[in-house]
Amino acid sequence: MHWADVIAEEVAGTCERPLIATGISPTGIIHVGSLREAITGESVRSAVESKGKDVRLIYLIDSFDPLRKCYDFLPKEYEKYTGMPIYKIPCPCGKHDNYAHHFVQPFLDAVASLNVKCDIIWTHELYEQGKFAEAIDLTFKKREQIINILHEVSGKEAKEDYAPYNPLCEECGRFTDPDFDSYSFPTVEYHCKCGHHGTADVRKGDGKLTWRLEWPAKWFIFGTSAEPFGKDHAAAGGSYDTGKRIAKEIFGTEPPLPIPYEFVQLRGVGQMHKSLGCSVTGLDAINMTPPEVLNYLFLRVNPNKSIEYDPGMGTLDMADEYDRMERAFFSKEFTEAEENNVRAYEIAQHNRVPSKIPLQVSCRHLANIVQMAGTFEGALEILNRTDDMSSASEEDLERLRRRSECVRYWLNGFAPDQIKFSVFPTIPADAVLSMTDKAFFQELVRRMNDCNWDSETISEIISDTGKTSPIGTKAGYKVIYSVLIGKQAGPRLGPFLASMDKHFVINRFIQASS
Ligand SMILES: [Zn+2]
Ligand SMILES: [Zn+2]
Repeated sequence: MHWADVIAEEVAGTCERPLIATGISPTGIIHVGSLREAITGESVRSAVESKGKDVRLIYLIDSFDPLRKCYDFLPKEYEKYTGMPIYKIPCPCGKHDNYAHHFVQPFLDAVASLNVKCDIIWTHELYEQGKFAEAIDLTFKKREQIINILHEVSGKEAKEDYAPYNPLCEECGRFTDPDFDSYSFPTVEYHCKCGHHGTADVRKGDGKLTWRLEWPAKWFIFGTSAEPFGKDHAAAGGSYDTGKRIAKEIFGTEPPLPIPYEFVQLRGVGQMHKSLGCSVTGLDAINMTPPEVLNYLFLRVNPNKSIEYDPGMGTLDMADEYDRMERAFFSKEFTEAEENNVRAYEIAQHNRVPSKIPLQVSCRHLANIVQMAGTFEGALEILNRTDDMSSASEEDLERLRRRSECVRYWLNGFAPDQIKFSVFPTIPADAVLSMTDKAFFQELVRRMNDCNWDSETISEIISDTGKTSPIGTKAGYKVIYSVLIGKQAGPRLGPFLASMDKHFVINRFIQASS
């Protein structure tokens, strides 16, 4: 059974209306691993839904978290905002409401494009609406007990002055510690380091719980049934372990079924992101991988196994594997070993697979086509020459458009140089042709003039001409690439030439032969 089905079975057994929670802390550039959380949550949601349950997925944005430091990717003046909640810090580009919004918006767009069906919830709003008030009240009343739990479970020294709740100083805008003795629902006093003395109302957005308390408080508020989270939180004595006891003993609620996931490893050191100086961001992964493939990439592997994400040729390999599983799903022909991946394909469609197989144009093929065509319309024109596009539906064209955009993004940022090319408008100036080369082109032109312009015929002519000419096949291929793209190698010649206009190719060969 696929892992999402196993988890779904357990979740569906817990209650009538399960709730799955996922979340993100948008304090900086969002890593590709965050995608795993969203996709894992959605896959469990759709698997529970397919069991006939009324299930809800929430996506919590931790917009009330403080900016911990002035990260390298931020302008120097952001130093002055450290310690402040990120929803109160201005956005670095000027186009978003605030800092949190700036970093999370592209990600939310992606979550939407992946068809994740979730309710977006901003944590700072929950505080402002008083949703945390009861939980905060309990943490003040049971503070000693909390200190004990944290000490017993995490093994860390018990701190007498441990503050489960930090008021937000109304003067300097930073989180500070409360004066515990002054607490009387709903207010607590504080003396901030900046010298300000003020009062915080726990029913308003005047302060926040610390992470180890806030997490179980969210379970308490939402009645969370299951939650995927990074394996660092799942370590012995970690925040899930303390959260479990705090949920039961402080808030009187059951902890959710944990779905810890391993991190995503990046392959290809040196594939540095051009503008950010870090490797692949979540946004890159979204921009260069078609949504259906990205879903599949995470679903084919059990969350407790790490995923090696290869932003180079692996991107095309993964898309090819997806297409293969799609064919297997529709033909019902697959091996036992492929069963899991075929089910992953199905879940990647949110358990709503189309009634017939979509038009498949591989990303590998598109990688060549988009390099020859400047626009999507241009790419379609080429495809009409090489593929049977007569049955393409609206959805097929939409998928094709999205795939083309992804492939273009990948080519601009991550594709290895050997697959990049551009067709020169005339013979490249540095192409030096010998008499043997010229004779080879003459013979090609003679044979190609009346041939059918399809990939197979073209391949045959080139290979035959190479074999029967003094130049030989290998050198023949090289010299063809050199007059078209100024390189010694390139895309497979049959489909490549077939995708170009016949007259254009023959004219180039005539030029090359004289
Ligand atoms: Zn912005
Ligand atoms: Zn202050």
